[in-house]
Amino acid sequence: MASRTSLEMDDPEWEWDIEIMMDNLELQQANGVGGNHRRAFGRANPARNQNQNQNQNQNQPPSRVNTSSPSGYGPPSLGPPTIPAAPASPSLTQSMANNDHAHQNNNAPPKTPLFFREAYAGFIVKGNFMTLAAKPHLVEEGEWLAHQMVEQNRLLSGMLKCVETPDRSSGRGICYEQACPTMSAGPTTYTWIDTNRNPINLPAPTYIKHIQTWVNGKIQDQSLFPTDNFSSAPPLFSANAPLDDPNHWLGKTSGFPQRFETEIKNMYKQMFRCYAHLYWQHWIAFWDTSSHRELNTCFVHFVNVGRVYGLFTDKDTEPMQPLIDLWVRQGVLPEVKKSELSAASSSGAVPVGG
Ligand SMILES: [Zn+2]
Repeated sequence: MASRTSLEMDDPEWEWDIEIMMDNLELQQANGVGGNHRRAFGRANPARNQNQNQNQNQNQPPSRVNTSSPSGYGPPSLGPPTIPAAPASPSLTQSMANNDHAHQNNNAPPKTPLFFREAYAGFIVKGNFMTLAAKPHLVEEGEWLAHQMVEQNRLLSGMLKCVETPDRSSGRGICYEQACPTMSAGPTTYTWIDTNRNPINLPAPTYIKHIQTWVNGKIQDQSLFPTDNFSSAPPLFSANAPLDDPNHWLGKTSGFPQRFETEIKNMYKQMFRCYAHLYWQHWIAFWDTSSHRELNTCFVHFVNVGRVYGLFTDKDTEPMQPLIDLWVRQGVLPEVKKSELSAASSSGAVPVGG
C-alpha cells in the first residue's frame, strides 16, 4: 500500500529536492509538538528549531489590502464548483465529544475558486510526494503513522500561523472572529458540539485553536503516542503479524493502544477542516504573499498520506475535492481505489470511514 507507484520520477535529484523542501517547510514550531520525540524518528532538533525561529520573519501575516490581487474566485460565467453536500460527522471519541458535527447550507459560492484551478495548483518543488508517504520497509505501520501525525501537525501549524499571527497595525491575525464568525469552508460550515450535544457555531479562530490544542494534547498523550515505555527497541515489524494475530490492531506490536487508529483518523479529519478553511477563507492572503504554493505543498502531502493510509474518507474531503481530483489527474496524487483504502487500514480494528 505504501509501495511507490508509477509516479516515481527517474531523476533522483527530484526526490532529494522534495526532502529538502519538507525540511525547509519547518516554518514554525507546532506549539511545542516539536519537542515530542517519536522514538525511532527523533525529529525535534533544537538547532533546527532555532533556525525556524530566526526564519519566522519570512512568514509574517500576509496583507489582504493588495487590490492588485485577483479575487479568490473566477468569472461568474464559470459557475459554481460541484461540491456535494457534506455529510454529518460521525460521533467521535469521548475526549472529542464536545466537537464535530458538520452541516452544509445550500448557498453554493457563485464562482469557481481560483485555488481549484490548474494555474494556481502548483508546488514549490518538483518531485514525488509518495517518497514522503511511503513507509520504510522495516518500520511498523503504527509507528510510521505516529511519525506522520507529528509531521503533518507541524506543517499544518506553520500554515495556520500565517493567518493567526497578529498584524503589527491591526494587532490581530487575518483569521479573527469578525472576519470568520463560523468555521466555514465555502458552502460547508463545521459546527461544534456543546456539552448538551447541540451543534453550535464557533468563530473559526476559536474552533481552530480548540483543534490545535486537542491535537497537540493527543500527540503528547503517552497513553496514545507512547514514546518512553519501552526499555528496549520495539520488535521489528513483521508483515505477517496481522495474519498471525486475530486480535491485531494498528500499532499493536509497537505498543500503541487499540484506539490508536480511531484517534488518528479523528485527528486527521479535524486537521483537514483547518486546511479547508485556509483555502476557502484565506487563500487570497497566501496568494498575496506568493505563499499559495507552500500551502499547496503542505496540503498535497497531507492529502496523500491521508489517502494512502485511509485516514479520511471521500466524504471528509468533499470541500476540497476539486483540487484533489485535479492533482490526481495531473499524476501528483496516485489513484487510490476504495479497495486499496480498505486494505490500507485492514490491519486495524476500525474500518475505513467514521
Ligand atoms: Zn478564518
